[in-house]
Amino acid sequence: MITTSRARALTVALALCLAALSSTVPPSSAQSADPSLVLEINRIRAIDNHAHVPKVVAAGERADDEFDALPCPPEADAAPFARTRADNPEYVGAWRALYGYEHADMSEAHARELLERKRRVMREQGDNYPAWVLDKLGIEVTLANRIAMGRGLDNARFRWVPYDDALLFPLDNSALKRANPNRAFFFGREESLRKRYFNDSNVARLPSTLAEYLARVVTPTLERERRGGAVAIKFEAAYLAQTFLVSPRELSEVLRYWLTLYPDKILFGTDTYPGTPEVDWEEVGWQATTSSRQALALALSGMVRDGEITRERASEIARGVMRENAAKLYRIGAR
Ligand SMILES: [Zn+2]
Repeated sequence: MITTSRARALTVALALCLAALSSTVPPSSAQSADPSLVLEINRIRAIDNHAHVPKVVAAGERADDEFDALPCPPEADAAPFARTRADNPEYVGAWRALYGYEHADMSEAHARELLERKRRVMREQGDNYPAWVLDKLGIEVTLANRIAMGRGLDNARFRWVPYDDALLFPLDNSALKRANPNRAFFFGREESLRKRYFNDSNVARLPSTLAEYLARVVTPTLERERRGGAVAIKFEAAYLAQTFLVSPRELSEVLRYWLTLYPDKILFGTDTYPGTPEVDWEEVGWQATTSSRQALALALSGMVRDGEITRERASEIARGVMRENAAKLYRIGAR
């Protein structure tokens, strides 16, 4: 959520311009993070601006399929990103932090043991399990980007962000779908969500005028979402970005560039997503949270070291990025 390839390209372009303008090399980023800043950032109870937290599902119950309006289409031969590979040893750290895993490897026998521990915690915690995970991650509130909320996602810790792309495409999307197989898949998903919004609004057919469509479908849908506790709405078509795909150091470079421009507009987000039993939303959440905190500490330490900001200002920016900017935007705490 706090990196895009465009921002990285801008950073590269800026660095090239600076190199061309002067014979001196621009100061390099910090080699290490200030330990006091690391400690401080690790203690901030964060607000996760964007995640796809799964609801609690009992044994034998239908699997949760409402955690994303536009999941990526299944691609059998797609290679995973290096950092999200199931054998990434970082996940040993996640298992230790979350479930008290005692091994240093990921052998089959040890992974089985891990799954038993995890299932035991889930049983013990019941509907409180998602909140228990947030506590482990140091996250106070998560903005749950979901089609609908569900069991275990109480409003104190999980705030709803529904998807409304479907409302933007009420007409015939056949031509858009023909562009490529991904578009066909995504528009198929949007059309089934649109059908749901029509049903919920008691509208059988597309109204014949825009005004009628707004009055009978769009406004009632938005009103239902607000009544259901929505604090924002999501247009998923607008972007695709993830924090945990790159290393903290690489992330820190993009982040530092952004922090010099608009520190008040940067929000922490994990984009956690259901995965496999061993590497699920909890482990990816740990990885994204840890990476983001490390990257933020690295970027701010570099700025302090280069005299761009004071140490006090670094603390203030850190609290903003991890928590306060989102609290202000969504009025969390003020309600
Ligand atoms: Zn997402």
